[in-house]
Amino acid sequence: MSATGMTVDDLAARARETRVVVVGGGLAGLAAAWQCAKVGMAVTVLEAAPELGGTLRRVELAGTTVSAGPWGWSSRGGAVDELVDDAGLTDRVVEAAETATWIARVPKVGAVPAPETTILGIPENAWDESVRAVIGWGGTWRAYLDRVRPPLTIGSERNLGTLVRARMGQDVVDRLVAPLSVGGFGLAPDEIDVGHAVPKLNAALTRTGSLQAAVAELRAERAEQGESTPLKSLDGGMPQLVDALVARLVERDVQIETGTRVERIVRVGDVYEVAVDEDHVLVDDEGDEGESSPTRVADLVIVATGETDARRLLGGLLGRDLGTSRSVAREVVTLVVDTPDTDAAPRAATVHAVPGTGAADSVVVESARWPWLTGALGAGRQLVTVAFGSSLQAPATAALGDAETIELARTEAEAFLGVDLPTVADAHRARFELARPASALGQPEEAEEIRARAAGVDGLGVVGAWVSGSGLARVVADAADETERVRRARLFAAERGQ
Ligand SMILES: Cc1cc2nc3c(=O)[nH]c(=O)nc-3n(C[C@H](O)[C@H](O)[C@H](O)COP(=O)(O)OP(=O)(O)OC[C@H]3O[C@@H](n4cnc5c(N)ncnc54)[C@H](O)[C@@H]3O)c2cc1C
Repeated sequence: MSATGMTVDDLAARARETRVVVVGGGLAGLAAAWQCAKVGMAVTVLEAAPELGGTLRRVELAGTTVSAGPWGWSSRGGAVDELVDDAGLTDRVVEAAETATWIARVPKVGAVPAPETTILGIPENAWDESVRAVIGWGGTWRAYLDRVRPPLTIGSERNLGTLVRARMGQDVVDRLVAPLSVGGFGLAPDEIDVGHAVPKLNAALTRTGSLQAAVAELRAERAEQGESTPLKSLDGGMPQLVDALVARLVERDVQIETGTRVERIVRVGDVYEVAVDEDHVLVDDEGDEGESSPTRVADLVIVATGETDARRLLGGLLGRDLGTSRSVAREVVTLVVDTPDTDAAPRAATVHAVPGTGAADSVVVESARWPWLTGALGAGRQLVTVAFGSSLQAPATAALGDAETIELARTEAEAFLGVDLPTVADAHRARFELARPASALGQPEEAEEIRARAAGVDGLGVVGAWVSGSGLARVVADAADETERVRRARLFAAERGQ
């Protein structure tokens, strides 16, 4: 019996009679559906695309199934590891074999290894040879001024670009910090909140007297505490996570409808009416097509779409215009290349460019990071992803046809990696809405405000990268927390009412 008199049987019955509609079947939606299905709620997932997974989009290339979006996850916080465990895939978890990064198109220099002793690209020692190789003598002397200027001329600066520029100069911003923020998150350093990205940095700067000393102190602290967050993935590819989660959901009688775009969600009395596009056709187990109702009725609704649709759907529910998406347009071209060289990544698996110097922002040799992939592709083949587009520039591929896009990606991969890649065996292009990370200036504050409003509407949950911040670790952890909030409010609402 619970504190206020409900028995476990009462709670189980209440869960069973709770109808949940999850709008959007990306990782956030699947994780939310799993949280509700686990306690026996009657869950329906409505997904606009023909397949589930969202950004974790499955693509077949040269006979191998891979993801067109995320290739791995940060183990920080452990939420993805837990979901992978629930999905029964723990024995397939692998860690990246290669994590080194290079920076390409450094003016007058070319491609060089990214210095290792940095945080967010900020070096702990401007005189380090690997740093000087990127920013040159002029940049190094300017960066050195950080050591001799009093820290209080800056105070507690939250804008990463402003902080690094003021302390260490523009070369450090452009050549060391920006390649990582633009290549990784699609955002310029001036859009990153250093207080969120590295919460202890400003305090360490005040304490130690310089940005470099602050970085050195925090790196030493991390090393001492053995802090490391390996990049993990699944042997055999990330799409297995979607398949395994869907299998778990189906075992729990979750109804999954793909090709079903939700147009509107309306609160009518105590329930929600979720309206789907009118052309929607429901396909049953035998593959027979039939008309289905364009409206689903639910007690709980979890909005788990990308940013554009979420703002539109929630605007109606919250009675307020939530504005337009702040996500960045990113296009990723995945190439399977035949390599005359046995090593397609003589530089590093990950190469980011100095922003504004060319068409692509980053190139990753996924087959160098994930050995299972080399095995799957066979000898003499590598898989390379080429990313275009950030807040600084729309994808250079936006107006190009497929053949031109693939050729541009191939030549950019050659330039970034410094190898000949004459033959493309297979290729795929995919466009994405890349949500802002939680370290983007203003992102957490806006998400918190929207969440606070949504929390005022009974039975409404909001999950997904645009509110949690991009990245599977955040998306999955946040989806579990938000779903737990909504689930708990529903299950214990009956107690309050009694
Ligand atoms: C190119 C790229 C690479 C990435 N690489 C990594 C990585 O390596 N590691 C990492 O941790 N993170 C990575 N990320 C980030 C991570 O993939 C995302 O943060 C995460 O997958 C977002 O999941 P989501 O469920 O919030 O959104 P989405 O995956 O976008 O899912 C939203 C779903 O909602 C559906 N939908 C939209 N509108 C409607 C509607 N009206 N009705 C019904 N359904 C609708 C969409 O079709 C979609 O399936 C990457 C992101 C991108 C773009």
